[in-house]
Amino acid sequence: MNTYDTVMKLALERGFYFPSCEIYSDAHAGFWEYGPTGTSIKNKFLELWRRELLRRDDMIEIDGSQIMSKNVFVASGHLDNFTDPIIKCKDCGATFRADRYITEKIGKDIPELLPGSEIDKIIKKYNLKCPNCKGTFADSDRFSMMFKVEIGPSKEEAFLRPETCQTIFVDFPRIFKTMRGRLPLAVAQVGKSFRNEIAPRQSLLRLREFYQAEIEVFCNPHRLNDL
Ligand SMILES: [Zn+2]
Repeated sequence: MNTYDTVMKLALERGFYFPSCEIYSDAHAGFWEYGPTGTSIKNKFLELWRRELLRRDDMIEIDGSQIMSKNVFVASGHLDNFTDPIIKCKDCGATFRADRYITEKIGKDIPELLPGSEIDKIIKKYNLKCPNCKGTFADSDRFSMMFKVEIGPSKEEAFLRPETCQTIFVDFPRIFKTMRGRLPLAVAQVGKSFRNEIAPRQSLLRLREFYQAEIEVFCNPHRLNDL
């Protein structure tokens, strides 16, 4: 048993963390629960984070909404750019994350933002086939990692935030004003973020719903020498 399996086994047996909705057959991958001991470790980590970073450097902390309006992500570019390259088998329909699959097969790192035409060229050059049925792949595509939700009976489009910093940026003008802020100003937040990963794996390392503890430091770009 390798280290990863040993840790996993211990975590499950002692209830540190375990898969979400595990008693039902339609449970989705990439969602995990912290059990009593896991929650206790998480809380201890956060105490340390607040004491050693936030309080020591006079940062301020907020706790923002996880669902945010569409325009937030139009402005940030996430709706256009927060995507992963995917390849789909023409025969069985199985879908894979292109950069990872290619790296696994040819042993070379592929940049996430490699254009689709380049990905298609590599697939042809190395004659890569579907690992399930040996079928050929259709041209590569991009898959949005944003989780869309519908608000109210009129089903207005909104999204789960893919990173906690989004609320910090959107709230900055109000925080700056109400806290009588002066630059540099550091704003911290701990909370959930959501990414519709194509292949979540490695238990808590690649999740679809996860905690982030994040700090954004705002400063005047013309006065960086004062920092
Ligand atoms: Zn296939």
